[in-house]
Amino acid sequence: MEQMRNLIGGQLVPPLSGQYLDNFNPATGKVWSYVPRSNHEDIANAVSAASKAQKEWSEISIDERAKFLFRIADVIDQNCEELAALESKDQGKPVGLALSVDIPRSGQNFRFFASAISQFSSEAHIDQQWVNYTRRDALGVVGCISPWNLPLYLLTWKIAPALAAGNCVIAKPSEITPATAYRFSELIQDILPPGVLNIIHGRGDEAGEAIINHPEVQAISFTGGTATGAHIAQTAAPMFKKLSLELGGKNPNIIFADCDLKSAVSTSVRSSFANQGEICLCGSRIYVQKEIYKEFKNEFIAQVEQLKQGDPSDNQTQQGAIVSKPHYQKILNSIEKAKELGGKILCGGGPWEQGAKLGGWFIKPTVIEGLSISCETNQDEIFGPVVTISPFETEPEAIKLANQSRYGLASSIWTQDLARAHRVSKAIKTGIVWVNCWMKRDLRTPFGGTKASGVGREGGLEALRFFTEPKNICLEINE
Ligand code: NDP
Repeated sequence: MEQMRNLIGGQLVPPLSGQYLDNFNPATGKVWSYVPRSNHEDIANAVSAASKAQKEWSEISIDERAKFLFRIADVIDQNCEELAALESKDQGKPVGLALSVDIPRSGQNFRFFASAISQFSSEAHIDQQWVNYTRRDALGVVGCISPWNLPLYLLTWKIAPALAAGNCVIAKPSEITPATAYRFSELIQDILPPGVLNIIHGRGDEAGEAIINHPEVQAISFTGGTATGAHIAQTAAPMFKKLSLELGGKNPNIIFADCDLKSAVSTSVRSSFANQGEICLCGSRIYVQKEIYKEFKNEFIAQVEQLKQGDPSDNQTQQGAIVSKPHYQKILNSIEKAKELGGKILCGGGPWEQGAKLGGWFIKPTVIEGLSISCETNQDEIFGPVVTISPFETEPEAIKLANQSRYGLASSIWTQDLARAHRVSKAIKTGIVWVNCWMKRDLRTPFGGTKASGVGREGGLEALRFFTEPKNICLEINE
C-alpha cells in the first residue's frame, strides 16, 4: 500500500516525523494507503521553499505564468480517468460524478484563472494635478486549506487564482481525502518552478494549525466547517492575515405552487442528494407551497427511492458511500435525533444494509417531514443524504422560513412568476440564489456566503482581488 509524500520545494518528501495516518476507502471501511502526518517543521520547510521562489514567480510576465497554469489544466484533463477513480475510492463519491464534475472542473479552475489573470485590471483615478493608479501585487506566501467533500475541485479552486496572481502556495488538503492532491503533486512536480506550489498533508490541528500560525503566511483561503473557520479567524486576526472563509450551509429550497413541477422535483432530488448530500450547496430544507405539497412530496419520494445506491466505482451508481466512519455516525445520530423530535421518516432513515455487509459506510437517502423549523434537524448542518420537507402558505412566510437560519450560503427558488423571483431573491439572505435551477456555476461570479457561512468571496475577479494587495500610487502632474 502506498505511502503518500509531501511536495516541498519541488521534491516529493516524507514527513519529518516519519509518521503516517491511515487512509480509508469508505466503500469497504478498509485502510488502502497512508497519509503523511506532517507538523510545523514540514510547514516551516515549505514556507521557506515558497519564500525563496516567490520573487521570481511574481516577476515573470503574466503570459508566462498563464502558460504554466494552462499546462497544469492539460495534465489534469489528460489524467481525468485516473484522478476520477482515485477521487471516488478516497471520498466515496460515484465515479460518474467525479468523471463528469470533480475532475473536469479541477482542470477548468486552472484554465479559467490562466485566462482571468490576463483580464485583471486595476484602477486609475485622474484629476487635474495628479494621477492615482493602483498596483495589485501578489501577497507573497499564502495558505490554501480545503475540505474532504470535493477534494481536488476545491483545492484547485484556491491554488489556481493564488498562483495566477503571483503568490507561492502552501496547500493542505483534508487528511480524510488526500489521494488526488498527492497524485496531482506527482503530475505537476516538474511543471512548476520548485517551491511555487507546496502540498503538505496532515491533520488540521497539526499541519493546518502550523499554516495559520506561520508569521510568513500572509493570507489564508479556507473552505470547511464553521467552527474551524471561527477558530482560524481568531488565530489569524491578531496577525492581520487576510482571510477568505467559505463555511457551512443549511440551504433552503423553496417551491412555489406556480413552478414547473417536473423540473422542480427532478432538480430537488439532485440538489438534495448529489454526492450523498456532501456538498455545501445542497438544499437541505425543502419548503413547498401548500397547494402542491402533496403532489410534490409524492413525486419527490418516488424519485428518491429510484436513486441507485451502490459501489462508488460502478459507473451506474448514483449514491455512494459516506466519507468517513465518524461522519457516517454523526449523520446517523442526526437521523435518530430527528425521530426523537417527532420527525416522520418518509424514506430512508438509516444505513444501507447491502453496503454495511461490504464493511462500507452507506446511508439511504432520507426525507423527513413534520419537524418544527427551529429544531436542530432544521437548524444544524448535517452534510449528508438527509433533507426535511415542510409546507408553507404565503410568500412572506417562505421568506421568513428561508432566513430563519444562522447560515446564509445558498438557496433555490422555484416559480414561473418573474416579479416574485426578483422579490424573493432580494429578500433571502444568502450569498447565492438559484432561480429555477441549482448548481449552475459560472466561474466569473462572486462565490461565498453570509452570516455563519463565511466571510469574503471566491471566484472570478473577487479571487484575484483577494490574492493581491492594492497599493495606491499618486503622481503629481507637473506641467
Ligand atoms: P473542517 O473544517 O473539519 O476541515 C476543513 C479543512 O481544514 C481540512 O483540511 C482540515 O484538515 C482543516 N483543519 C481542521 N482544523 C484546522 C485547524 N485548526 N487549522 C487549520 N486547518 C484545519 O471541514 P470538513 O473537512 O469537515 O468539511 C466539511 C465542511 O466544509 C462543511 O461544513 C461544509 O459545509 C463546508 N464546505 C463549505 C463550502 C463552501 O464553499 N462554503 C464548500 C465545501 C464544504 P483535516 O481534515 O485534515 O483535519
